Amino acid sequence: MADIPAECNIKVLCRFRPLNQSEILRGDQFIPKFQSDDTVLVGGKSYVFDRVFPTNTTQEQVYNTCAKQIVKDVLGGYNGTIFAYGQTSSGKTHTMEGKLHDPHQMGIIPRIAEDIFNHIFAMDENLEFHIKVSYFEIYMDKIRDLLDVTKTNLSVHEDKNRVPFSDSYSVSLVFSPLLLFPLLLFLLISSPLVMDVIDEGKAARHVAVTNMNEHSSRSHSIFLINIKQEHVETEQKLCGKLYLVDLAGSEKVSKTGAAGAVLDEAKNINKSLSALGNVISALAEGTKSHVPYRDSKMTRILQDSLGGNCRTTMFICCSPSSYNDAETKSTLMFGQRAK
Ligand code: ADP
Ligand code: MG
Repeated sequence: MADIPAECNIKVLCRFRPLNQSEILRGDQFIPKFQSDDTVLVGGKSYVFDRVFPTNTTQEQVYNTCAKQIVKDVLGGYNGTIFAYGQTSSGKTHTMEGKLHDPHQMGIIPRIAEDIFNHIFAMDENLEFHIKVSYFEIYMDKIRDLLDVTKTNLSVHEDKNRVPFSDSYSVSLVFSPLLLFPLLLFLLISSPLVMDVIDEGKAARHVAVTNMNEHSSRSHSIFLINIKQEHVETEQKLCGKLYLVDLAGSEKVSKTGAAGAVLDEAKNINKSLSALGNVISALAEGTKSHVPYRDSKMTRILQDSLGGNCRTTMFICCSPSSYNDAETKSTLMFGQRAK
């Protein structure tokens, strides 16, 4: 697979998962027709993206085609965001996390962690690296820290440059050339350490809610990697950060079926996803005047990592089954708005 040209700052990639066992048993049809590496035909209509990944695409291919370059860019001082959008069970978590400790099945986040540490190994020995990772979720417009379960409603502040941030707990790692031997040792263990951070966050989520799968489909989870490099002699600094976002399920709750809390949740998810859609399409249109970042907590937090010079990648995750036809079309339309 060829790389996607680097100059385009908002990329929309579409990935279809395979039919699952119960869909096969039910006799569902496989609806997408993959026409080329950027076009898919669904229900007689073709949808064009920066890349379309058919069902047999491996985690490694996905990573190499579109996430690898972002790591280089973030180490080069750019900010970036990678999202996964789609209905529940369409492959968002598979794409972002995958199976964390399985070298073939691991998704984008663990591969990024590994890649960052490989880059540090190969870099200028006069650079000191400060890496911070945070992990939180947004549920019903409240930010819950997944690394500190006591913080269930974090606020969003603005720093002196009016960049919004949330005061979440973070795990910090420092790599200094002055500590060369311990550094090498530490590097060997620190990529798994990032994986531990994810495990810890997921465990916290388990404790906080009764049904983790249901809950994770109704909240946005956000993994943040902050990288600061400092030259030991010149003290010159270079900062970049990367948000990795596994969005809440985009399915519409049936108008008749939902009431009370479920309906409130659905409205809330709908609102935050359309706020995100509005921001991305304003950015894609090149509207400099008004990008509605302030319409949701998520877009406020992501503000300085979306658009402009930032690297923004949206994965549009789809089910191939005829049973999910309507949701798949609405997911594809969401992705098209960003083009
Ligand atoms: P979501 O996070 O969107 O709700 P998941 O990522 O949990 O969905 O995927 C639902 C199921 O489908 C999981 O069991 C996952 O392993 C499987 N799956 C998703 N995408 C793929 C894929 N591209 N290849 C194989 N299995 C997949
Ligand atoms: Mg999920």
